[in-house]
Amino acid sequence: MENEVQDNRRELIEAADHIVITAHKSPDGDAVGSSLALLHILEAMGKKCTVILPDPFAAFLQWMPGTEGIVFYSESPDKCQELLREAGLIFCLDYNVLHRTGNLAPLLEAEIGKTPFILIDHHQQPDTFPDVLISDTSSCSTAQLIYEFAESLGSAELINEVSGACLYTGIVTDSGSFRFPSVTPKTHQIAASLIEKGVDHAAIHRAIYDTNKEDRMRLTGYALSEKLVVNRAHKTAYISLSSEELKRFNYESGDTEGLVNQALSINGVNFAAFLRQSKENEVKISFRSQGSFNVNQFARAHFNGGGHNNAAGAAVQESLEQAINRFESLLPTYESELNYE
Ligand code: 5GP
Ligand code: MN
Repeated sequence: MENEVQDNRRELIEAADHIVITAHKSPDGDAVGSSLALLHILEAMGKKCTVILPDPFAAFLQWMPGTEGIVFYSESPDKCQELLREAGLIFCLDYNVLHRTGNLAPLLEAEIGKTPFILIDHHQQPDTFPDVLISDTSSCSTAQLIYEFAESLGSAELINEVSGACLYTGIVTDSGSFRFPSVTPKTHQIAASLIEKGVDHAAIHRAIYDTNKEDRMRLTGYALSEKLVVNRAHKTAYISLSSEELKRFNYESGDTEGLVNQALSINGVNFAAFLRQSKENEVKISFRSQGSFNVNQFARAHFNGGGHNNAAGAAVQESLEQAINRFESLLPTYESELNYE
């Protein structure tokens, strides 16, 4: 592996006194896991390193080693600016375009041309600004790409229980616990090597999936029994929740994660959506499909969003009702694309 590297990733790392690692806003298990894993690996290589995230992540990721050192733009914008200005190298993890970092984007943009960038990601159509672009849209997770990045540097042996737990979290959360088609023999080989290094896979799974709050369980129950709409003609199911409904269940970030997959799990459903009112005139949408229907294209074409073929998202500035109506009215246009076994 080591000899295959054509770019100057190694030189960029060696030359940098201080390295900053960034990931996308509303960071998920892969964003946080990849960032912290890379932090631990670079530190093991003797580098000074900081993780900057646009905003906080869900409580079920809080246990990960290294979270206490993360700097959030939403809490310390000036500190972020200072860190980025002083960085000798900036990593962009788990996002393809700078605007996925929200309010952090202008600060990153300001460093283009001044500071080298390495982007490691698995989303489609990555921007071309980075000096080193490591994009593999077939990879199940950025965490898997971080493992392979360490391999490419000849540093895989530096991965230990600590960085391994972060990598394992990214892989498990983004691969639907090893069940999506993007999982390959290599994914399992990496998971096996992490377990060999001492990663407690059962404890990680419990920390992520079996630490639900009662409010969250009741919100899920309400969403599934009262708010699920199944449109058999278009093999589509969706759930919507207003700010008022979320408030009733003391909603916290991350509480509705996975709801869209529940809608998709219905027999005969090829396309699922979850629409969550995030502000008075803003709706966050998650799209999922199984099989050939391309939700990345759908999200791009109608909601200014994007993502992967089978998992995409968007944020739109309109009322929840408007977003739902627009979504429903689009379905007949896709009648033939949605009707497959
Ligand atoms: P989720 O539904 O879990 O929020 O997002 C699924 C995938 O859709 C993410 O991995 C990301 O690739 C993409 N995505 C989510 N939200 C947005 C968004 O607002 N804009 C774009 N372009 N992609 C998004
Ligand atoms: Mn990811």
